[in-house]
Amino acid sequence: MNTTADPISGVAEDSLFQSERYGSYAYEVPVTSGAYTVRLHLAELYWEGAGERTFDLLVEGQVELEEIDLFSQAGHDGAFNHVVEEVVVNDGTLNIELEGKQDAGTLSGFAVYSADGQLDTSVPEPSCKGYVGITYDDGPVTNTSTLVNLLKEHNLTPVTWFVWGERIGGSTAIIEQMMSVGEVQNHSFTHPDLTTLSYQQVYDQLERTSQALQDAGAPAPTLYRPPYGTQNATTQRAAADLGLRAIIWDVDSADWNSASTASIVNAARDLQDGQIMLMHDGYNTTNDAVAQIAADLEARGLCPGRIDPASGRAVAP
Ligand code: ZN
Repeated sequence: MNTTADPISGVAEDSLFQSERYGSYAYEVPVTSGAYTVRLHLAELYWEGAGERTFDLLVEGQVELEEIDLFSQAGHDGAFNHVVEEVVVNDGTLNIELEGKQDAGTLSGFAVYSADGQLDTSVPEPSCKGYVGITYDDGPVTNTSTLVNLLKEHNLTPVTWFVWGERIGGSTAIIEQMMSVGEVQNHSFTHPDLTTLSYQQVYDQLERTSQALQDAGAPAPTLYRPPYGTQNATTQRAAADLGLRAIIWDVDSADWNSASTASIVNAARDLQDGQIMLMHDGYNTTNDAVAQIAADLEARGLCPGRIDPASGRAVAP
């Protein structure tokens, strides 16, 4: 028996399903007779190698996934989603069964939609178990709108942008776009190592950027990220005088250092509740990671949040 106190998303009565029988088990979802779409959320949360767990997954008696190996499909902690359309239920119960081949089957969650696309009311939407700070530095750049659209498409919002002041160039349109998916905050005006500058120079770098953001229609920034993450007593004093809290990061995507999309996706799997991840605006590798990062966070019950200026941690938006 393997039990967990974690809520299983997409199940009306958690207690019915939170103990699994080793090997095979089944979900019985009460629904009115009709046709449904079933979205299955799977992830390998335990094993760290291929071939350690394989199982069949059946919906209404039909094999939908045969000897699926989640690690091979999506790695450790990676999301694997599968949609089954046109599931016809005649007996008032929608059955989902897992039959273990190697080790037991595992299912992170599921949602059942009626034919008109509405989430069936008997199955609540997954909730957030925690929040993470998704941050993009150094924009705006020429293809910022590509990233904005990807973030919208995959619901990886809100994010926090640390904007390079000089690059705003008086453009309210691009700042407006960035604000449509999150908050715009301060990343200095010309991106120097602030620890090499005088108090007045640091103050000017930050003050000019906060002003440029407000001129472009943004609220007064409350956060700043020092370029290269470097700080000293002088930068801390200037930032404090401007009411800005320094935000570094817990997880570095290393996209600035030619990390591959797979490596960026993998880095995001280290994120824990409250933590913050560093990425950059402008890299195709970073943009290509958005879909999988969004799916992985969802599978782990984590949601993007805003960064709280009081605590410096990611919190509910
Ligand atoms: Zn930067």
